[in-house]
Amino acid sequence: MLFLRLYFLCVALVATRTLEADPEIPSQTPQKSGGKIPTEQNITFSLVHTDGPYIAMTFDDGPSATLTPKLLDLLAARHIKVTFFVIGENVSEHPEIVARAAREGHEIGNHSWSHPNFAKMSQESVRSQLQRTDDAVKNATGKRPTLMRPPYGSLTEREKHWIHDEFGYQIILWDVDPYDWKRPGPAVVRNRILKETRPGSIVLSHDIHPGTIEAMPSTLDALETKGFKFVTVTELIGMATPETPRPSAKLKASPSASATPSPSVAPSPASSPSG
Ligand SMILES: [Zn+2]
Repeated sequence: MLFLRLYFLCVALVATRTLEADPEIPSQTPQKSGGKIPTEQNITFSLVHTDGPYIAMTFDDGPSATLTPKLLDLLAARHIKVTFFVIGENVSEHPEIVARAAREGHEIGNHSWSHPNFAKMSQESVRSQLQRTDDAVKNATGKRPTLMRPPYGSLTEREKHWIHDEFGYQIILWDVDPYDWKRPGPAVVRNRILKETRPGSIVLSHDIHPGTIEAMPSTLDALETKGFKFVTVTELIGMATPETPRPSAKLKASPSASATPSPSVAPSPASSPSG
């Protein structure tokens, strides 16, 4: 009798665990109600939900007189397009480097004029930081940027909305951060990027640190070997698909035509001084 009771107890426990392990499918499909995505999710991206193996490499804080041309050379050799989030001050010093990057198919985004913390500034000062950089990029490349990344990823909710309304920018954060600004050495930068990057990732790094540029040839080659394909941030956003579970669709080559971005979560400015 005791054995029988123990047996039933075990069966009951297993049944409970199986129930617990089942994913709660209704809670994972928030987009079902009406099918319309709130506008806010079209403004900020830290990664993009995509069916294909696409990723966007992004390089901040340049251009650097010496390192950015080196990076452009090794990108050209591999036919890889990336996105640069440039500092206006540096653009005005080296417009020819930004012009070359744009000419070679890379995307140029606004990363402020002098890298201040927007969350602690007046609207007027933030506007000036963005406008001067927007103008400098336009002068260098003939095109205004359509993307903005706030220094340190730091932006208030209010700023996010008026910046999007006034400048039309999509605000780009990241989901892979190798903390290369701490200069941990090329091997660490490479290993962190390789470990964290997945389809739809936006990879942050900086083209002003020698170790980052040193890490890039082997990092890019290893990512390519893993099957990743490099696109600009705007191209990646264009490949966004609704965030519903789609088993075994991860490495499908052709992106869906749908352009619904995933709900993205901004990294907390306080916890990440990157960017
Ligand atoms: Zn930065």
